[in-house]
Amino acid sequence: MINEKINIRNLTDQEIINFLIEQGEKQFRKEQIIKWLWQKGVSSLNEMNNLTESLREKLNTSFYIDKIKIAEKHISKDTTTKVLFVTIDNLYFEGVLIPDRDRVTACISTQVGCPLKCSFCATGKIKYHRNLSSGEIFDQVFELNKLSEAQYKRKLSNIVVMGMGEPLLNYNNTIRAIDILTSASGLGISPQRITLSTAGIPEGITQLANDNININLSVSLHSAIDSKRDDLMPINKKHNLKSLSDAIKYYYQKTRKRITYEYLLLGEINDSYEDAVALTEFTKISACKINLIEYNPTENDIYKPSKKERVKQFEDYIKTKNLVVTIRKSKGQDINAACGQLANKKQ
Ligand code: SF4
Repeated sequence: MINEKINIRNLTDQEIINFLIEQGEKQFRKEQIIKWLWQKGVSSLNEMNNLTESLREKLNTSFYIDKIKIAEKHISKDTTTKVLFVTIDNLYFEGVLIPDRDRVTACISTQVGCPLKCSFCATGKIKYHRNLSSGEIFDQVFELNKLSEAQYKRKLSNIVVMGMGEPLLNYNNTIRAIDILTSASGLGISPQRITLSTAGIPEGITQLANDNININLSVSLHSAIDSKRDDLMPINKKHNLKSLSDAIKYYYQKTRKRITYEYLLLGEINDSYEDAVALTEFTKISACKINLIEYNPTENDIYKPSKKERVKQFEDYIKTKNLVVTIRKSKGQDINAACGQLANKKQ
């Protein structure tokens, strides 16, 4: 049945108006429907109780809502919460809530699985299924915000689009979800509090700049040496560091926004002096910040975390170049909080 109906959350405002006109309904109903969909986050059209029964029936005949559900919730000893979501077609993906002293950050997914298959990533080992819709991306924030209020007594303060999948390969749905999250008729979240992280899709980075999407950009670099990056992130064979660098330069020229680089430190793989030199050379192209991330090993892992002294030497070298650098500790290790670990187990 669902296949014959249309996902109402994929409609534009104008398409909702067109439907109302065709059905002989008043146009002000659009505002009511939009509120139910994006502010109240309903999972069924029957919940729209300020619409007439006959309009609800008409909506039910033509549309459905692809609302996701929480399948599992795991709270770590360090209070990180990992949520396993399930779609209406029974696919699993993850979102994470990360509380800190003055903020609660939601890490959300944009695809079920990921076609990019980075060698260190648990998501890369799962079968890639499909893009998440804009509604499914939105739902994660909606549900994680409710959880944040219940668990940490605080609203979400930040969103990182850094979970399962490559957001720039699901550009339209991701940007539409961000539009709704930031709009007054959605959740009204400041775009300054949203960071999109990419493995490096040059045309997507260029499009973000051209479309003037006013969020923060983070690039998962993990190596600034092509041969090493080819091994860690196969997407580098298609879009090498030169094409990535050209896209970042263009983005920076247009937006003047500081780029954040994510760099996962893997013991004896990308944590040498030579790696640090290459990283600081690469990141010269714009104002930037470098996040060094401690590796969180998964079961039967071929990688190991960098030794403490190597992390320190790496960080110190970056500081000698007057670059802003932070070290991010792995969180939620006891609950498989690394991207994709929980969905991998489920599937
Ligand atoms: S690290 Fe990101 S881009 Fe790479 S496989 Fe995992 S989810 Fe995909």
